[in-house]
Amino acid sequence: MSTATVVGAGPNGLAAAVALATEGVTVTVLEAADEIGGGTRSSEAIVPGLLHDHCSAIHPMAVGSPFLNGLGLDRYGLTWRLPEIDCVHPLDDGSAGVLHRSVERTAAGLGRDGARWRWAFEGPVARYDALAEDIMRPLLRVPRHPITLARFGAPTVLPGSAFARYFRTPQARALFTGVAAHAFRPLHYPLTSAIGLGILTAGHRYGWAVAEGGSRAITGALAALLADLGGKIETGVRVESAAQLADSDVTLFDLDPASVARILGDRLPTRIAKAFRRFRRGPGAFKVDFAVEGGVPWTNPDAHRAGTVHLAGTHAELAATERDIHAGRMPERPFVLVGQQYLADPSRSVGDVHPVWSYAHVPHGYPGDATAAIIAQIERFAPGFRDRIIGLEVRSTTEIPARNANFAGGDIMTGAKDLRQLLFGPRITLSPYTLGLPGMYLCSAATPPGPGAHGMCGANAATLALEYLARSGRG
Ligand SMILES: Cc1cc2nc3c(=O)[nH]c(=O)nc-3n(C[C@H](O)[C@H](O)[C@H](O)COP(=O)(O)OP(=O)(O)OC[C@H]3O[C@@H](n4cnc5c(N)ncnc54)[C@H](O)[C@@H]3O)c2cc1C
Repeated sequence: MSTATVVGAGPNGLAAAVALATEGVTVTVLEAADEIGGGTRSSEAIVPGLLHDHCSAIHPMAVGSPFLNGLGLDRYGLTWRLPEIDCVHPLDDGSAGVLHRSVERTAAGLGRDGARWRWAFEGPVARYDALAEDIMRPLLRVPRHPITLARFGAPTVLPGSAFARYFRTPQARALFTGVAAHAFRPLHYPLTSAIGLGILTAGHRYGWAVAEGGSRAITGALAALLADLGGKIETGVRVESAAQLADSDVTLFDLDPASVARILGDRLPTRIAKAFRRFRRGPGAFKVDFAVEGGVPWTNPDAHRAGTVHLAGTHAELAATERDIHAGRMPERPFVLVGQQYLADPSRSVGDVHPVWSYAHVPHGYPGDATAAIIAQIERFAPGFRDRIIGLEVRSTTEIPARNANFAGGDIMTGAKDLRQLLFGPRITLSPYTLGLPGMYLCSAATPPGPGAHGMCGANAATLALEYLARSGRG
């Protein structure tokens, strides 16, 4: 029977492990932390019973993941819950861009931009499942659905701020730009509308879902399925060198490229080692979780019902703050993303005390404390918020990677999503998962289709590992 070692028990490592174990491979997963989950961990950090997501919170791409969807993870405790409203982007005058799961409802709330929103999303949403088969793999492949991909792909080459100007109202412009800014890139750069269009299309198809019982339920379900398939997970094992790796037939790394280069050292072909050492990191996230009595007192009424609230003001203000963080300058009023997962999953609250998740976009490795800036940005759209905070937990750009080395400098995207790395991953190749060593693969969010708790990087790498096992007669 063939054997596999997977380094890292994040969603991609566990997806790879499940894909391999399903085909009869004996799998061992080695995880540095004392618990599995990587960017999907959750815990009760501030008040007993009050459940916070450490990293991932909102999962349109995971609900629509062609790999996770086929696993029957509901049998292992994964239940998706939807907030009443997916996302609200409030403006200073109290109005807001409001994103519903339904394209029609969203369009109806966007006034004279309604028809434009409908035009942009109706077609791609109707064909999202076919589209996902192409956009959840390396993009430089012969597409399975070329026309659908071309129709979706044409506007993605535009800079996010150019696509935003297709809308005429400040609400629609801000709503689109807030989602495009998930790319952590200056929004006047080409292709910065791609991530926003991907998230919005997946969201209109599946909703901005949260996992009942915390995001840890996603990897908890994968781990339970893996155990049923005979796989093993060893926690508290940090892999520092190739000597620690068992002599498995295949090895998959759910790690950032620099860590893989360090672990494999001289064994890695020089051209790949060089590319991995040059791998570019993106700006950082500065995270603050709050325990809030009575919830956030938003001025905008829809924000009280939204799973996510984007705080940045107008699209122009947001474009300026994203330019600043990219240039290493901390803006006075950063882009702040607020998660109110408890609205979809009330089991996370304790009485009238609610867990509120937030992070700000900050420069890579930002050494300062952004807590006051985050609170001020929430106060701007919810006066009185400060007085409702009964506790908070801060994770700076050094504390985030201390818990998970993949997020160096607070870069939660596992690498800058610039043109080259978005299209190819860590190096220019048609096979971004291969490491130039027989049976060894990279399977983390540094590879296509990139960040998110969707497991597709792991599933794609595992497909190559299985092909290798079959080719080499070990499958
Ligand atoms: C603050 C924040 C907010 C986010 N919000 C969202 C969101 O709302 N929705 C969404 O879909 N995504 C979100 N993400 C991104 C998402 O969490 C990641 O893209 C996803 O977790 C990547 O999965 P992965 O399996 O590639 O790697 P990871 O989740 O990073 O897992 C890697 C694992 O490898 C382990 N490891 C590292 N080094 C070693 C070593 N040397 N030896 C052994 N083990 C090692 C780590 O401990 C970790 O468990 C967010 C991330 C952060 C931090």
